[in-house]
Amino acid sequence: MGKIIAVANQKGGVGKTTTSINLAASLAAIKHSVLLVDLDPQGNTTMGCGIDKQDLDVSSYDVLIRQATARDAIKSLTDIGFDLLPGNADLTAAQVELMQQPDKERALAEALDHCRGDYQFVIIDCPPSLNVLTLNALIAADSVLIPMQCEYYALEGLSDLMDTLGDIRDSVNPELRIEGLLRTMYDPRSRLANDVSAQLIAHFSDKVFRTVIPRNIRLAEAPSHGLPVLKYDKSSRGAVAYLALAGEIVRRNQKSRKIASILQ
Ligand code: ADP
Ligand code: MG
Repeated sequence: MGKIIAVANQKGGVGKTTTSINLAASLAAIKHSVLLVDLDPQGNTTMGCGIDKQDLDVSSYDVLIRQATARDAIKSLTDIGFDLLPGNADLTAAQVELMQQPDKERALAEALDHCRGDYQFVIIDCPPSLNVLTLNALIAADSVLIPMQCEYYALEGLSDLMDTLGDIRDSVNPELRIEGLLRTMYDPRSRLANDVSAQLIAHFSDKVFRTVIPRNIRLAEAPSHGLPVLKYDKSSRGAVAYLALAGEIVRRNQKSRKIASILQ
């Protein structure tokens, strides 16, 4: 049964989409089967995988409003090594239409239940807000990966997100875990970044990934070629960092499965 990881942070521009695409590609590169789900009306993940968001017959919108199954909408991206459930601006309408449906926040969980067995990892790219789309992701997910820039206001935004995750755990998804906090666009020469990073580790200790994603121009260029950075410039620092992240996630999950089996 695939592990579902939601990539979420209500702040825009922190590297959610970059992380979703490049983590999916890196997990695939280390021989894991991956489904990437685009749940952001901006459709940046879809475009970044080389799929035209304006030209989708079936998308995550149809899946959320229960007019199509996930398998109907999934595209196999054989060149880049994973599957994509694409999304576009129609998702904005889904937010409104979902309001009229019973179990409006469980639509994605139900849809993924039918196909998660086909994958080892399902990565969901969330929109930059805590709306009904993000709620669908957080209810479907086993864990949340939180990309963040080590800036002055980052910790403040983080506490709002932690409150939301606490509310979700207390009500609809008690099993929701934090996969990890990921420092993105990191500049080790910045004193502020180092200070915020130290505070993060003091506060969240091993919930902070050891892997740090540096600011790297190749990561910003790759989407305009419709490619993950691994297929665009595999020796770039960005590509190496996301491969390291995939390795760290796989190792952490193997370790926690081992501990769970000993405790059983
Ligand atoms: P979000 O999905 O959280 O809004 P994005 O992943 O779209 O954030 O990133 C915002 C912008 O920053 C994009 O233009 C992206 O190409 C760029 N970017 C993201 N991560 C990096 C990085 N590590 N180095 C350089 N540019 C980055
Ligand atoms: Mg995004």
